[in-house]
Amino acid sequence: MINYSILRGKDKIGENLIEISYGETRILVELGKSLDGSGEDLEKEILQKRYSAVVVSHYHEDHAGLIKYKRDCPVYIGNGAYRIVKTAAEYRGEITPENILTYRNGRSFEVGGIKITPYLCDHSAYDSYMLLFEAGGRSILYTGDFRFHGRKDKEKLLAALPERVDVLIHEGTNIGKNACTLTESELENKAVEIMQATDKPVFVLQSAANIDRLVSVYRASKRSGRIMYMDNYTSLIAEAAGGKIPRPDKFDDVIAFTPRAVRGKRGEAFLKIKNKRGLNGITKGTKRYTMLVRASMADYIKKLDSAAHICGATLIYSIWKGYKNDKYTAEFLSAMAELGINIVDLHTSGHAAAEDIELLKRTVCAEEIVCVHTEFCYNVKKDGV
Ligand SMILES: [Zn+2]
Ligand SMILES: [Zn+2]
Repeated sequence: MINYSILRGKDKIGENLIEISYGETRILVELGKSLDGSGEDLEKEILQKRYSAVVVSHYHEDHAGLIKYKRDCPVYIGNGAYRIVKTAAEYRGEITPENILTYRNGRSFEVGGIKITPYLCDHSAYDSYMLLFEAGGRSILYTGDFRFHGRKDKEKLLAALPERVDVLIHEGTNIGKNACTLTESELENKAVEIMQATDKPVFVLQSAANIDRLVSVYRASKRSGRIMYMDNYTSLIAEAAGGKIPRPDKFDDVIAFTPRAVRGKRGEAFLKIKNKRGLNGITKGTKRYTMLVRASMADYIKKLDSAAHICGATLIYSIWKGYKNDKYTAEFLSAMAELGINIVDLHTSGHAAAEDIELLKRTVCAEEIVCVHTEFCYNVKKDGV
């Protein structure tokens, strides 16, 4: 009988490690890295244990942070997510292991008698999936991380999912919390208001790998008549995502910059971008620009200020508010405040609202429901066990 075991992730946010077994087949679902450095013994044990395969739902560190260390079996990840993982690894000077294989939305594949079907879902990581495991007439649906308030059509996903499953393992990050679940479109509209209210630069602190946010910021920037500066790393990630994702060269109003001198392969990659501008070009050009930044770029923003004062500019803080307690981020924010930059919070959760989790439960009518990726774990069976 197909079965599951939650090795980690029942009483904390992320770091999921789940085993799915059927006969001799043993699949590890997710290979997340502990975010606080705890649980290394379990991670070592997992890396040494024999599995038929590893299947990860998306590339966030708490789900896929250890995949490069698991070389003794196939490791599956979404096709688009793979391009991002590969690009990020190359940027760090690493080679992506050959045992990493890819899957695609709606295309089932099999590992040792277990049929696995990926369902594309909306999350703050590009190309994230829910995963359905089926064997011997029983099924387990694992949601990974998801939300219904992003740009992807939830009805399409709900229609594609099975009408009933035996077990539903769902994420519950926002259960019991008053999390912000603005839609990405609502967030875009608020960003437009902020951008239209000033003729000065608007910096946006966001994750390079949050492609949905990148799109929202670009759309707001365009609607506000601004050009957008994208750093060299984000430009590579956006290029890896491809398609309609805004990036230099493919979009006239997106221009690449590099916050520090880049050499070697990083330098070569930057030089290949036609649509790029140096610090002089940026400071002499229009002030009505949007610039994507990260906490490591304080020195660069100080240089921009030395060349042309940016006092009164705006920084949109568009990452999880908990990062404000992180020393590195706190130092960046205080450096921005010292430059006279106004800091405005504008973010929305990458995780499902409690009512959306209920909607999912009603859709798949599970016999047994397990909540992971939360501090409020529970496990309910329909017979009351
Ligand atoms: Zn997660
Ligand atoms: Zn995630």
